[in-house]
This record gives sequence, structure tokens and C-alpha cells, in this order.
Amino acid sequence: MIDPHVHLRDWNQKGKETLRHGLSVAWRAGLDAVFEMPNTDPPLTSREAILRRVDEADAVLAELKIPLFHALYAGITASPTQIEQAVAAWRDFFPRVVGLKMYAGHSTGEMGIVERDTQAIVYRTLTNLGYTGVLAVHCEKQSLLRPADWNPQRPASHARARPPAAEVASVDDQRELALQAGFRGTLHVCHISTPWALDVLRARHAPAAEDLADARTLRVTCGLTPHHALLDAGMMDSPDGLLLLTNPPLRPPPMPSLMLEHLCDGSIDWIETDHAPHTRRDKTESFACGLPGLPYYPRFVAGLQRAGVPGQRIDQITHDAVCHAFGLTVENRRRKGDADLAREYEFDPFASFSG
Ligand SMILES: [Zn+2]
Repeated sequence: MIDPHVHLRDWNQKGKETLRHGLSVAWRAGLDAVFEMPNTDPPLTSREAILRRVDEADAVLAELKIPLFHALYAGITASPTQIEQAVAAWRDFFPRVVGLKMYAGHSTGEMGIVERDTQAIVYRTLTNLGYTGVLAVHCEKQSLLRPADWNPQRPASHARARPPAAEVASVDDQRELALQAGFRGTLHVCHISTPWALDVLRARHAPAAEDLADARTLRVTCGLTPHHALLDAGMMDSPDGLLLLTNPPLRPPPMPSLMLEHLCDGSIDWIETDHAPHTRRDKTESFACGLPGLPYYPRFVAGLQRAGVPGQRIDQITHDAVCHAFGLTVENRRRKGDADLAREYEFDPFASFSG
């Protein structure tokens, strides 16, 4: 199994998570590979930071004696020179540098490239450089966020402050800009959380004929987090609601169960946990966004198994689709039966799922 979206922090944020802890949890959770996001502090946007990270991850894996495959995304900024360096790092070090990541809206780390014009430059630059890999994008359109609606006394207001419209519009932007630039890579929408964004991504909203022709040449994928499938915004109106802060936010029902159905019916390509622990203090005082996901990954998969999702589909969404999109080969312990997930966990994440 592969988790293509984790945040392992370390460095100036080792109080939240570390390579050592995150990689060992991933291995014990039955994973064969994790792909790490670049919004570390300092960020993985230079060749130097990327190589330092690879070395440190290698040292940790050697010490833990676990054959987990660690890869990372090079972060993209608005500077064409930096983008060129990121693409060079991908060319030189693939699959360790497994793809690129763009924040099309601010989240943890303030790496947002929020203006549409600047995003257009990114797609054009990547096209001119002949980039054919995966560009993973955090899609929330900054201009449609409503920060005035955020009230820490009512944590569920986070869902109103970052409404579905922001995700939908950003996915629409990315798709359109990628098509306009003639982008030859794969556009991956991270942690998709609304059915409307899925419709826009798959161009199921009555596209014009020429749009359809273009769309056939653009490769798109998207991932779903277990939390966007199992938790909802209403759960945040509780004393510990701030602990559930995440971006994009938990959505009101029935969106989570609809997204879970789309994961099972093949509309969503794979599971990604977006593992992003913070300290309790960061959550309750600085309203840090992100949830730990790695420890729950096997429980989620075991729940899918118990709900009757065929093994072949589970292989796809936990492994095969990721390998195919990124163009790499990774062992799958789950398929070999080395990771007996269903037996290990008694907790049933589907107990509250009524889809
Ligand atoms: Zn993330």
C-alpha cells in the first residue's frame, strides 16, 4: 500500500512530527511507500533542501531497518527559475523526487500561489520545460475564502469560512490553465472533498465539444482522505472541535458519504491520508490545520474490505493507481497477504457511516 500524501515536518517543526516517528508509524500501519509533501520548514523547494531530506530519510530508514520507500514532492513557487530547478531535481532523482506540489491557496506553510495569472505562468513554465510527471495541487481559491466567517468559539464555522465553492473554482482554474498551456503532465487534485469538484475535474458539467477534445489529452487524478469520507463538519461543534481543523475543511453531510461512494465506484483514483499531526497547543491556540492519518490508514482499508469493496478495487485505490499515475513500481505487501489488516484492528471506522 502507498500513501502518496504525508507531512513529516521535522526540522523546525519537530514538535509536530518527525521523519523517524512518521516513517515507523507508516511501516507498522502496513504501508510500503509514503510520498512526502514539501511544506516543511524550511521548505523542499531547493535542490539543497531536497537532497538533505533524502539523506536524512535514508539514515532514519537504515537505522529503523525498514524497507519502506520514501519519496518526496519538490515544492513549486512562483519563480520560473525555481520551477526549473524543481523539474531538474525530478529529472535527476525520480522516483525519490516523485513529482511536484503546488499550493493554489494558502494552507500550512504559506506556500500559496494564489493568483490565477501566476498559476498560469507555472503551467506554461512546466510545459516549456517538457515536464511529464505529476503536479499535485492543493485546490482552494483564495479569493473565495471567507475568513470573516471563522469563529474559533464555533469550530464548525471553518467549513463556512472555506466553502465548497473555493475548491470547485480552484479545480476549474487548474483544469483550464493546464489545458490552455498544453500541460503534458498529470494534474492531481489533492484531498478532493466535494462531489462538485469531482464533476468539474472530470468535466461532467456539459462541456463544450472542443473542451471534450482537449480534455482527452489532459491526464487528471484525484485522491480522497479517510477523514473527508468518514468525518463531517457537524462533529466540530464539540469541546474538542478545534482538533478536527483541516484544509480543505470537513464538509457537512451528505458530502462525506457521497465521496466514499465515489472512491468505491472508481470516480476517485486513490486514498491519500494527508497525515499532518500538530501539537494540541498548535491546534487550540494557533488553529493549526491538519489531522494525523497514517495510523488510521489500515483501519480505513479494513473497513472498505468489510463493507464488501472487492480486493481488486482496494488494490487499485491503495497501490496500483498511484504506481500507474507516477510511473513507478513499488511492492504491495497487502496483495501478498503480508499485512493482515482486518484482523489487527477491532475499531470499525464505518460504524457511523450510513451511506
Ligand atoms: Zn497536505
